[in-house]
Amino acid sequence: MRSFAFSVLCSFTGSLLSFFLASPFSGSAQTQPNPDSIRAQRARMILQASEEYKHKVFTHADTLRGSITPERAWWDVQRYDITVQPDFATKSARGKNRITYKVVSSQQPAMQLDLQAPLHIDSILDDNGHSLPFTREGNAWHVQTPAQQASSTHTVEVYFSGTPHESTRPPWSGGWTFAKDSLGRPWMTVTCQGLGASIWYPCKDHQSDEPDKGASLTMIAPDTLVAVANGRLQFTKNNGDGTTTTKWAVVNPISNYCIIPYIGKYTHFHEDFKGEKGHLDLDYWVLDYNLAKAKAYMPEQVHNMLHSMEHWFGPYAFYEDGYKLVDVQHTGMEHQSAVAYGNNYAFGYRGRDGSGTGLGLKWDFIIIHESGHEWFGNNITTKDLADMYVHEGYTNYSETLFVDYMYGKEAGDAYNAGTRRGIRNDRPIIPRYNVNEQGSGDMYPKGGNMLHAIRHSMDDDEKFRQILRGMNKTFYHQTVTTQQIERYLSQQAGYDYSKVFDQYLRTTQIPDLEYYFSDDHKKVSYRWTNCVKGFDLPLVLKNDKDRIRILPTEQWKSSDLKDGEAALFDEAAITRMYYIGVKPNVGKQ
Ligand SMILES: [Zn+2]
Repeated sequence: MRSFAFSVLCSFTGSLLSFFLASPFSGSAQTQPNPDSIRAQRARMILQASEEYKHKVFTHADTLRGSITPERAWWDVQRYDITVQPDFATKSARGKNRITYKVVSSQQPAMQLDLQAPLHIDSILDDNGHSLPFTREGNAWHVQTPAQQASSTHTVEVYFSGTPHESTRPPWSGGWTFAKDSLGRPWMTVTCQGLGASIWYPCKDHQSDEPDKGASLTMIAPDTLVAVANGRLQFTKNNGDGTTTTKWAVVNPISNYCIIPYIGKYTHFHEDFKGEKGHLDLDYWVLDYNLAKAKAYMPEQVHNMLHSMEHWFGPYAFYEDGYKLVDVQHTGMEHQSAVAYGNNYAFGYRGRDGSGTGLGLKWDFIIIHESGHEWFGNNITTKDLADMYVHEGYTNYSETLFVDYMYGKEAGDAYNAGTRRGIRNDRPIIPRYNVNEQGSGDMYPKGGNMLHAIRHSMDDDEKFRQILRGMNKTFYHQTVTTQQIERYLSQQAGYDYSKVFDQYLRTTQIPDLEYYFSDDHKKVSYRWTNCVKGFDLPLVLKNDKDRIRILPTEQWKSSDLKDGEAALFDEAAITRMYYIGVKPNVGKQ
């Protein structure tokens, strides 16, 4: 999911517009928007996004938020033990985070903690209970810690309070949500991807540093409500003052933004699932009035999802922490081992199909997509937000792989090609590093389409599957850079795809395949244009009878064709496999 206001507005409106453009059922003659004006509006939005990207000015605060500053570099987070007490009536919150960290350098300037206004840090205690002095610089807090030995482990206990930022449009915008369920009872949660977990608790708010030894979340909430969070329930205790204290914990590393409280009128049911790695606990935490609906609806979707994801990506990475779905009011979010679910117990994405093929209406988008992030996003996490396509592109592709697993490869091809209508090519998928910048929303469908092109160019699905599984094994519970992911894929595929990555991740150009036949159709000549220098995506073209592999470059090259092979150069067939432009009969003298 994403969070920057403009890209959200733009991508959401963009997909809505493409929905209007593509759907024959989108309203009566009177209400149907004029396609030309929609196209013009879309073009304007793309231009605006592109201009804003080019001219964006970064501040010192962006650097503090998005880079490994010297004040972050010397300590490595081992654990977060968070306690929070939100107050529904006043929309305020107070709590603490006990941060356990390992000293990794003898150079120890101040310690940078992050907590975003209007919340504030009240006090900080070291492991001996001594109060530590600190100063504030916007959302960054500089703490004076005593000199500590390299390799030693310490804690700071950070107390905070205030009226936290509320999300205006979860999950797209971050912050607390103080909502009511349909019976008017309090329902509270948080969303914070992109904006950062420091919107609600103090932490080292950088994606590269996950608490290696897990995290716990203790919630103090009204005793009429039930509090749910990531991992396993540790205890629940009635305080006798109208509140209950409930503690949950994960034993595995977890992204800051994935640690989430869910507080409402929850009830729950459980299933035992047999997965690739053995017994897996499945738990469903839903609002009490949704229980019957959830029991009838959720398990089949979850079982299908797990069978498909484990087939393509390997074992679920958090057996120790279990798998959960938790009811929310917003659409959903990939919170590790406690996936937020808000898709109204219905197929599609709130009733829509992003691919426009109808295939997206045969399954629950939120259960499939958000759970797909358990592999790409939660198991493999990127160090810098700029590489977010590793989360969203691969997870977008998990949808295609799910369709393939359930309905066959042709269906997967169709679904994948259908998602292209959401691509805008407004700005690169990978933006600038070290400033917490998020790339174009194209990281979803275009990222998925890039992987689909690579898969077809390999023309070996088993090998491709083993690469995806190998990735989840090699980078198990790690934070990575795109270079690691790109290199791994190329090495395992036995072909250097670096120019393909450059093309699709770092430019907005779509390469064109130009080709022409000799008069007798016994020879075809071809080349790439509108591409990065050295672009060399190999193409495997095939139908029921024939198959050829060509290696176009920017220079004209030729291949001899046997009888019937000219038919392989079919524009519709080529573009179903590859997200490229096709220009037949170009270049002939
Ligand atoms: Zn996602």
